[in-house]
Amino acid sequence: MGFLTGKRAVIAGIASDRSIAWGIAQAMAREGAEIALTYQSERLAERVREMAAEIGASICLPLDVSSDDEIVRMYESLAGHWPSFDILVHSVAYAPRDQLVGRYLDTVTREGSLIAHDISSYSFVAMAKYGRSLLSKQSALLTLSYLGAVRSIPNYNIMGPAKASLEANVRFMAADLGAAGVRVNGISAGPIKTLAASGVGDFRQMLQHFASIAPLRRNVTIEDVGNAAAFLCSDLASGITGEIVYVDGGFHTVGMSMPD
Ligand code: NAD
Repeated sequence: MGFLTGKRAVIAGIASDRSIAWGIAQAMAREGAEIALTYQSERLAERVREMAAEIGASICLPLDVSSDDEIVRMYESLAGHWPSFDILVHSVAYAPRDQLVGRYLDTVTREGSLIAHDISSYSFVAMAKYGRSLLSKQSALLTLSYLGAVRSIPNYNIMGPAKASLEANVRFMAADLGAAGVRVNGISAGPIKTLAASGVGDFRQMLQHFASIAPLRRNVTIEDVGNAAAFLCSDLASGITGEIVYVDGGFHTVGMSMPD
């Protein structure tokens, strides 16, 4: 019996089979969770439905997190299938491409900053706010962050402050929801080649640099992140909340790389 047997999980953020959310969905399904997937737009609907079928997930709902109305509608549809759910995974981020290449002050704009913070940080709060009446007594919310929240990283630019805001939201939401038995955590993942990541300038160099310095001397995979996510959202992690867990091969722990 898997350690998520009996849990119902809503997972937002699958765009392709390289998506971190796909690694999470596969790990959670393997551990016995029932899964509902959301997709951003009709363009992704068929692909996400096919992927849902692969893991036996029968619920697939549209959700553009930039709209409160869409979030409310998604939960209304979900309530037609499930009376409650136990796990929410927010694996969603966006900044306009022109924000992610070049020097910070040259590229950052008011509009780019608003969009990055809205889609990549506030949307996690909105999903919790409108979904909390459906959350079960022992539920867990999870989002995805990156080291750019706490260190400057070339080209990551405005996504750094957006991820810092997201990590602060994890702590505020954990404090707010803890008394109701709801845990809130984030995973700070190492770089992985996905659609979102391909928008960040010089991403390939970032991957090489990471693998040469991280204690594990390799890049992490969506399976590495998926397994950690399944654990964090399970009752095995019942004492963990308000936390950012690094799944980065140890990269953030290194002060100076040792020659091999
Ligand atoms: P991805 O492109 O596969 O996933 C990003 C998802 O965000 C897509 O499914 C997209 O549809 C969704 N999205 C964007 N705008 C949306 C909107 N308005 N409404 C609904 N959905 C929207 O890329 P990924 O790398 O799997 O990204 C998932 C999460 O992991 C993001 O938060 C990202 O910042 C984070 N992350 C990624 C890396 C990496 O290197 N790939 C590292 C650390 C953290």
